[in-house]
Amino acid sequence: MKHIPIFQDFAAKMSEAKKVMINKDDSDEWRVAWGVGSNLDLGMGSSSTPKLKPHELLLSEAITAFMKKYHHFTAQVTVQKNPSRKNLIGDITLTETSVKKHRFRVNYNPDQSYTHIIKSLLHELTHVKQVVKGELLPNAEYTALLWQGKEFISIQEYNKILKNIKNQHLVYRNLPWEQEAETAAHDLYEVFLSSPEWASLRGRDTTLDFIMDNI
Ligand SMILES: [Zn+2]
Repeated sequence: MKHIPIFQDFAAKMSEAKKVMINKDDSDEWRVAWGVGSNLDLGMGSSSTPKLKPHELLLSEAITAFMKKYHHFTAQVTVQKNPSRKNLIGDITLTETSVKKHRFRVNYNPDQSYTHIIKSLLHELTHVKQVVKGELLPNAEYTALLWQGKEFISIQEYNKILKNIKNQHLVYRNLPWEQEAETAAHDLYEVFLSSPEWASLRGRDTTLDFIMDNI
């Protein structure tokens, strides 16, 4: 199946969370992971299973429902944890299934504070919205990306950016779909915390109640 490994979103604003080196001799600042920013990491880091815990599933479903309502789109979204890629906040892949059938897999890095997990999902779900609404699409041959109907970058060029993300992360972040996703992550965070979808999570899971009380 044709696909583009896309939207590999790296931690962008290092100042917002404490940085944790992946290993001590690694002086390469790019290979930092988001630190867990609060005391909310009960149980986190102890398990590498990609299966979402009940509170993670509830939270991801609420964010997905919020984004669908906010942007008026429908899609089938499966959210997964991807703890093995610590320098990513999240990623999704553009496949024929996502483009034609609007079925998506969204990964997020669980090694973040819940604030950053929510922002990461808002970011990735903005990409889902862009694809569903036809704002961001591959061309028919999957050799270029179209933004707002116009060819914006070839996949060859795009892959060059991804390959050299350490030096190219500013170029990556300035891609128009990335700018929109980053703005959304920032601007919609408080909107989500004021939403009925967030409020509806109350009382459904004790871990989630704790997160909600402490976020
Ligand atoms: Zn992105």
